[in-house]
Amino acid sequence: MNEEQYRERILQLARRKDAEDDFLGMLITCRDEWVTSFLYETAAGVRQKLYGRDVYIRGLIEISNFCKNDCYYCGIRKSNRELTRYHIGEDEILECCEEGYALGFRTFVLQGGEDGYYTDDRLCRIITGIKKEYPDCAVTLSLGERSRESYKKLHDAGADRYLLRHETADETHYRQLHPSSLSLENRKQCLFYLKELGYQVGSGFMVGSPGQIPEHLIEDLRFLQKLQPAMIGIGPFLPHKDTPFREEKEGDLTMCLNLTAILRLLFPHALIPATTALGTLHSEGRELGILAGANVVMPNLSPLSVRQLYSLYNNKACTGLEAAEHKVLLEKRMERIGYRIVTSRGDVVK
Ligand code: SAM
Repeated sequence: MNEEQYRERILQLARRKDAEDDFLGMLITCRDEWVTSFLYETAAGVRQKLYGRDVYIRGLIEISNFCKNDCYYCGIRKSNRELTRYHIGEDEILECCEEGYALGFRTFVLQGGEDGYYTDDRLCRIITGIKKEYPDCAVTLSLGERSRESYKKLHDAGADRYLLRHETADETHYRQLHPSSLSLENRKQCLFYLKELGYQVGSGFMVGSPGQIPEHLIEDLRFLQKLQPAMIGIGPFLPHKDTPFREEKEGDLTMCLNLTAILRLLFPHALIPATTALGTLHSEGRELGILAGANVVMPNLSPLSVRQLYSLYNNKACTGLEAAEHKVLLEKRMERIGYRIVTSRGDVVK
């Protein structure tokens, strides 16, 4: 395809909000700058029509690094004996929210490993507490796979959103990343339960995880088209020194940006973060993500003492641009590229 044909097909993708597998595959792996820059510009244009130049922020509170699962890629997997484990209690979570609210955060994301300490009752108390204190804020949970009943109780207590990446939609690839105790079927089932219960649902996948091929990424996009999530989080796979994948190669920046732009064109309304992993892979990863069509950033609002312990991958960024207390720095960096951080719940625009 020549330049003109590429441009026409990208514009067609933006119009149809869909494309054939072969073209998606070509775009995912494309490294020609004249194609990728047109792709990112088109995605940024679609984003600006709906969201202007606003960037939504979420305060990420990493409530626990205990996990009963043993995903091969993840630094907080059960078998990692090198890690000091922690979870934070109700009062500490509320203190994080207090600090976050003062900084202008209107969404709090409680994320953690699958930790039995957080029973339904405990979580319901936490959610009710946050909602009572900050009724104008959204509460997002990202606590892995739970039962439908549990998701219902948490939603009834006031949880608004739930993030659960499907990680990979390909059965064979899923098996390369997870032990036999976990199943793709259950992961997907959880996502559909969450939707059915009225959560705004977020899903997504890692880019460049071991064994991944472009066909898997196309399957990921097709799965997302079925799910129609409100939020889509992707980020590069990054190795962690105390996991079986310690020697594996990290995900590719261009591929992450290409996929961010493709997601924006397939799902114009979606809330798409420029993730911490992207910011860890490249010092300007956040900005590059926004310029390719992302519209959310999730600075770290966890207590300082635990940030390094929530160690999903090597060298996780959490103290510079990534830190909630350095919001001014983030604001400046966003202004420099023509975007602005806003104080709002940051819901999907209709
Ligand atoms: N336990 C919850 C769950 O399973 O959804 C939330 C916590 S989990 C650690 C959050 C996300 O971190 C996962 O969905 C995964 O995509 C990402 N993650 C874990 N290890 C990673 C790695 N080595 N590189 C990049 N992302 C990773």
